Amino acid sequence: MTGPVHIWHPFTQEALDPPPVMIERGEGAYLYTKDGRRLVDGISSWWVNLHGHGHPRIADAIANQARLLEHVVFAGFTHEPAERLASKLRAVTPRHLTHVFFSDNGSTAVEVALKMAIQYWQNMGEPERNRVIALDHAYHGDTAGAMALSADSPFTEAFDRLRFPVLRTHSAYCYRCPVGKTRDNCDIECLERLEDLFAEHDGEIAALIVEPLLQAAGGMIMHPSEFLTRAAEICHRNGALLIADEVLTGFGRTGTMFASEGAGVTADIMCVSKGLTGGFLPFAATFTTDEVYRAFRAADRTRTLYHGHSYAGNPLGCAAAVANLEIFETEPVFDRIRTIERIHRERLPLLAKLPLVGDSRMIGTVAAIELETDGPGYLSDMRLRLYNFFIEHGVLLRPLGNVIYILPPYVIPPEELHRIYDVIGGAIVEISEQ
Ligand code: PLP
Repeated sequence: MTGPVHIWHPFTQEALDPPPVMIERGEGAYLYTKDGRRLVDGISSWWVNLHGHGHPRIADAIANQARLLEHVVFAGFTHEPAERLASKLRAVTPRHLTHVFFSDNGSTAVEVALKMAIQYWQNMGEPERNRVIALDHAYHGDTAGAMALSADSPFTEAFDRLRFPVLRTHSAYCYRCPVGKTRDNCDIECLERLEDLFAEHDGEIAALIVEPLLQAAGGMIMHPSEFLTRAAEICHRNGALLIADEVLTGFGRTGTMFASEGAGVTADIMCVSKGLTGGFLPFAATFTTDEVYRAFRAADRTRTLYHGHSYAGNPLGCAAAVANLEIFETEPVFDRIRTIERIHRERLPLLAKLPLVGDSRMIGTVAAIELETDGPGYLSDMRLRLYNFFIEHGVLLRPLGNVIYILPPYVIPPEELHRIYDVIGGAIVEISEQ
């Protein structure tokens, strides 16, 4: 074979999918293609971008840091950007999460959380507490541990033998209620299974892991906040740790800085990534309490958390994250979030009247429309038809099977968000007529 090595793109099946679009430049909510088109980024480039592409404050912070120190091993060394980031994080993260461990993406933030939880109980002299409960429809990442925690799906099927056993409890997927209730006659009975699991596995549960309020990759499933608060209460009453995977929900996505905090829930471990650098660099953080940290602090080295990635604490990532948090301090970020919420609230009910629309839901800046389909969820061919329609109309949206969702950068101009709604309406009408 001559020429460059072939690039194997994620989630792509060359025989079925259109060729990748060459993007030359990004600015604000827009991506500019090499062949002269402009696409509005309706999914924040896989949910990472907050303040727009190419935000000069983050770009400058990275460039300046790169000239000073691009990287240094983080075991035994530290640097100014990491220390500055730790201070900035203190001001925005829940007060009880006083320790932070840096890694490099959402999956690794989850792997770290998992290891913290398991080793915490080992260090505390309760090694039999080594099982984890996760939710139906969960998605926690693509590495092996995170994949085990994620629900069965086409993403995990080929790797089933690699996945360690996880106890599964219901998700509050109200549109398809797992216990046959409707919101008006429900008292969150879907949590009974969680109670049962704790009773059946008394003293064996290390942690419950949740995507607080919003299960994203599982189909943009939005939970009543009571589900989260009561799940947290059950978890803590049974002595287990609560892990909040805020990889997507962190940094304002659900309308508050962190979803768990917005719901009044105190997690023992919290994972963030994606928006942490404003969408510029792969970087992640796993936070925990002093109580958990103290179980690792000892004169005995076997109690150490032996986990560390080559790029842990990368100074460029830290500098980008500091700049991201400065934007929260200096720009009207939460006003932008409120504007997006208002438009979702106004436009979603109109889409709900269209044919094929089974459910429409929103939380904070995220809106979702679930279309009725007889076919398989994620692998439904509706996905590709919708995707192509959106691209042809200058909009980047990647439906999760039959679930169309909007998850824009906070700087999206209001008229552009309205246009996205118009395009989605057009797509649904076209699909329903085929
Ligand atoms: N956790 C959640 C809730 C996510 O939504 C994702 C990614 O979508 C991950 C973890 C994994 O993050 P990454 O893709 O950066 O590994």
